[in-house]
Amino acid sequence: MDNPSRVALVTGGSSGIGSCVAQLLARDGCDIAVLDLKRPNESDSALYHIQSLGKQVCFLEANVSKSEEVNTAVETLVSRWGRIDILVNCAGIFRDQVIWKMNDEQWRDVIDVDLSGVFYCCRAVSPIMRAAKKGAIVNISSINGMRGKFGQTNYAAAKAGVIGLTKTLARELARRNVTVNAVAPGLIETPILQNMSETARLDAVAEILLGRTGQVEDVGEMVSFLCSDRARFITGEVIRVDGGQYI
Ligand code: NAP
Repeated sequence: MDNPSRVALVTGGSSGIGSCVAQLLARDGCDIAVLDLKRPNESDSALYHIQSLGKQVCFLEANVSKSEEVNTAVETLVSRWGRIDILVNCAGIFRDQVIWKMNDEQWRDVIDVDLSGVFYCCRAVSPIMRAAKKGAIVNISSINGMRGKFGQTNYAAAKAGVIGLTKTLARELARRNVTVNAVAPGLIETPILQNMSETARLDAVAEILLGRTGQVEDVGEMVSFLCSDRARFITGEVIRVDGGQYI
């Protein structure tokens, strides 16, 4: 039951940034637990990659917006591997609409997944890291939580909330040697962008100083660093990975 490797729990790890984070943390020597709505395909190259590195991977089917599902998933993981050293909160959705047309469901869905989901996962994992007197938590926010974005009152409010949660949790867990940081990506090539109109994409790319969208590895490598011992004196930070889109 006891696992000598570090164990990383990655929400939203079946796709996009989360899948890349899972692979990079496996490269860094962690066994990986993916918590997501649906299991990645068995032939998925990300899973194959993790196993080919000699690391274990397990899948926890859960909805981050349901606290009881999160608690059960965390209990399952601890009974299986005995520890959780790293939590990366990547699960996220968006439901864009201008506020005068946004319905209650669009507002609640995004707040429930993108903000409450981060709260439920951090709350479930905190006692385990406090007891271990070490750990690293990285929450994926967004530059739109720092600057706002037309059509994203729900998403920007949730992602700004993640920053407040991150800074507060950094204060609460610091004495137990647990670091808590946020990464705020700009426009990153993932399946979440599939519904973005071509005009919106071109407008966004025009804002990026480096003149191109980011890749999942650009975010994943920052997360890998923040979860490593090299970042042991960094906590309560929000690090933008956006090619200069925010400034
Ligand atoms: P993605 O490819 O859609 O990955 C998100 C993953 O989260 C998917 O596997 C998704 O499952 C899962 N998920 C959604 N709702 C969930 C729930 N309630 N419970 C558990 N899992 C859930 O998106 P991504 O671009 O990698 O996004 C990862 C994070 O980065 C998100 O928090 C996003 O807001 C943030 N971000 C992304 C960008 C960008 O440009 N891509 C920019 C800034 C911030 P389904 O596919 O089944 O929905």
